[in-house]
Amino acid sequence: MNNMNPTENAPAEAGGAGQSRAGAILKKYFGYGTFREGQEEVISNILAGRDALAVMPTGAGKSICYQVPALAFDGLTLVISPLISLMKDQVSGLREAGVRAAFLNSSLSAGECGEVLRRAGQNEYKLLYVAPERLLTEEFRALASKLPISMITVDEAHCVSQWGQDFRPAYLGIGEFTKALAKRPILSAFTATATSKVRDDIVVLLGLADPYLITTGFDRKNLRFAVKTPPDKMQALLAYLQDNREKSGIVYCATRKTVEEVCGALRERGYAAAAYHAGLGERERRESQDDFLYDRRTVMVATNAFGMGIDKSNVGFVIHFNMPKNIESYYQEAGRAGRDGSPADCVLLYSGQDVRTNQFLIRKSIETIEGLPPEQRETLLQKDEELLKAMTWYCHSTDCLRAYILKYFGEDAPVYCGNCENCNTHFESADVTLEAKKILSCVYRLRERNRSFGRAMVAQILRGSKNERILQQRLDTLSTYGIMAEQPLRRIHGIIDHLIREGYLLVSGGEYPLLQLAPSYTEITRGERAVVMKLPKYEPPKAREGAKGGGDAGGQSPDAALFQRLRALRSRFAASAEVPAFVVFSDAALRDMCRLLPQNIEAFLEVSGVGKRKAEQYGEAFTAEIREYMKESRDATATGEIRSAAANLRAL
Ligand code: ADP
Ligand code: ZN
Repeated sequence: MNNMNPTENAPAEAGGAGQSRAGAILKKYFGYGTFREGQEEVISNILAGRDALAVMPTGAGKSICYQVPALAFDGLTLVISPLISLMKDQVSGLREAGVRAAFLNSSLSAGECGEVLRRAGQNEYKLLYVAPERLLTEEFRALASKLPISMITVDEAHCVSQWGQDFRPAYLGIGEFTKALAKRPILSAFTATATSKVRDDIVVLLGLADPYLITTGFDRKNLRFAVKTPPDKMQALLAYLQDNREKSGIVYCATRKTVEEVCGALRERGYAAAAYHAGLGERERRESQDDFLYDRRTVMVATNAFGMGIDKSNVGFVIHFNMPKNIESYYQEAGRAGRDGSPADCVLLYSGQDVRTNQFLIRKSIETIEGLPPEQRETLLQKDEELLKAMTWYCHSTDCLRAYILKYFGEDAPVYCGNCENCNTHFESADVTLEAKKILSCVYRLRERNRSFGRAMVAQILRGSKNERILQQRLDTLSTYGIMAEQPLRRIHGIIDHLIREGYLLVSGGEYPLLQLAPSYTEITRGERAVVMKLPKYEPPKAREGAKGGGDAGGQSPDAALFQRLRALRSRFAASAEVPAFVVFSDAALRDMCRLLPQNIEAFLEVSGVGKRKAEQYGEAFTAEIREYMKESRDATATGEIRSAAANLRAL
C-alpha cells in the first residue's frame, strides 16, 4: 500500500495501547490534551474494529471521534456528509492541522473533481468527504472498488430516516454502496438528534453490524442560559451588545421583517451586522454567511433559515429576539454558541406577543403542506401547539433553565446548575407551605362550585384581580379570593408549577389545561408535609442586571490587550490563507495562550488546540508576539516604577 506517512501505519489496537495511541494522535494533530465525554469510548471501539453509532449534542466534538481513527487506520476514511459548507470547513481545518484530506461535492468543477479522484486513486488522502448523491455514480464506484477503504463515516446520520428532520433520499444508497465493496469497512455513524425511532432506522438502513451505541449527555456546561422579559427588546439587545463588543454572535428573529429592522438598527449604531433570511437571493445569503464566518461582520441577524451546517467555533452569544416555536429548535439554535468550549451566553428575549406570532406561524406552515387530510392537519396543529406550550413555560419558569431543557429531552438534571440566569441571580430556598395551602384550598373551593381553571386564572383569583372574567363569574365571592394579594404573580405561578411537578396538582389536557387536585394534596393541607422549593428572591431589576456575568468567569479573564493582539495576528494568517479565523486557532486556543504565555515552541505545544503542525506553522509568530508583549509590559511597569520613584523624590 502506498501510504505516505509510515508512522501512521501501525495496526489499530484495542484497549490501553489503542487509547494512548489515540491520545497521541489527538495531541499531535489537534493539539488537545484530553478527550471530551464519550470521545475516547467511541474511538477505542472503532479502533477495535467495531461499528459505532454516537448520538452527541452539537458542539460535543463528534468530528474528532472519526478523525482520530481515520488517522490511526492504514487506508482511507470516507466521510459522507450532507452539508457542502461544512465539508469545506472541515477539510480546511484538517489541512491546517497537517492532515491530507479533500472533498467531493457539487461546489467543485468537473476538472477539480477529476483531480481529487485522481489523487484519491493514488492514496494521497487519509480522509475524503463526499456528498451522498455521489456514492452511487459509476465513476465513484469504480474508484471505490480500488481504494483501501478502512472506514465509512456517516455524518448527520439521522438524514437516512424519514422520521428525522432532514430526510435525504440519497442516504438510503449508503447501505447498497457499502455492500458492493469487496472488503467491508468499519461503519461509524454520528448525529445530534435521534429519537429511538430514528436510531433504529440508522442501524437498519445503514446496515450497522452490532454497533457500539453511545448517547452522551445533552448538557453543554459552558452555555449560560437566560430569559429576559424587557419592556423594550431593542434596548435590551443594544445594552447586551454594548457590554460584549469584542464577541461575535447570532441574533435570531422570528420573521424576515424583524431581521431587516434589527439589522438596520444595529448598523445605524455602528455594529458590523449581517442579515440572513430565505427572502434574500442565493448570492446575498452566501456573502452574508461568509462575512460572518470570516469575522468581517461580527453579528449575524437571521431567521432560523441560518445555521444548518455552520460550525463556527467562536460564537460568543446567541440571542433570540423572539421566542422560537419549540424547545428542539431553541436548543439547536442556542447550541451554536460556544462550540469551542469557551463560556457563551444564550439569551432569550421574551414577550407575550411571541406566543401569538408563533401560533400564527404554526398555522400558516401547516396550511401550506399540500394534500394533508383535515384530521391529520388537526393532529399536527395540536402537536405543534403542545411543543409551543413547553417553550412558553420555559420562558416563565423560575426554575433552573438548564434543568428545564435537559428534563425536556428526558435527561435527569439537578434542580440547580449555578450557570443560568435563574440559578445565578435570584434563587433561594423558601418554605412555601403556607402559600401551597392557600393555592390548594383555592382549587378546592372552585371544585365545590364545579369549576376549574388554568394556572393563570387561579393565580389571579388568589391575587384578588379585578379582571372582568373574575367579576362576571362572581369569583370574587370565593373565600380564597385575594388571600395572596401581596405576592407577585410570577411567584404564585412558580409555586403552582412546583405543586404540579411534585404531583399535588394535576393538569388536564386540552387547549386550556385546567388545574385539579391530586389525591396526595391532603398531605399538605393536613400539615403532614412541608413544601420547600428554590424560588427567586426578590431583587430590584437594576441589581440583577449588574450581576449578570458576560463571558469569562470573574478573575480568570485573560489579558484583554494580549488577546486582541493575538486575534489580530490570527486574522492576518487567516486572510492570507483565505480561511476563517477559527480554522487557524479557536478563541479558546488564544485564551489558553494568554493564560500560559508560551515564549518558545515547546511551551507553545502545551496550549490546548496547538498540534505539531500548527506549532510549526504559527509557533514562531505567536510566541514572538507574546515575547514582545511581555517585554512591553515589563518596560511599562519599570517606567511606571521609575516615574513613581521620581515623583516620590520630587515630593521630598
Ligand atoms: P460537533 O460536530 O459534535 O457539533 P465539532 O466536532 O465541530 O462538534 O467540535 C466542536 C469544537 O470542539 C471544535 O472546535 C473542536 O475542535 C472542539 N473539540 C473537539 N474535541 C475536543 C477536545 N477533546 N478537546 C478540546 N476541544 C475539542
Ligand atoms: Zn440553572
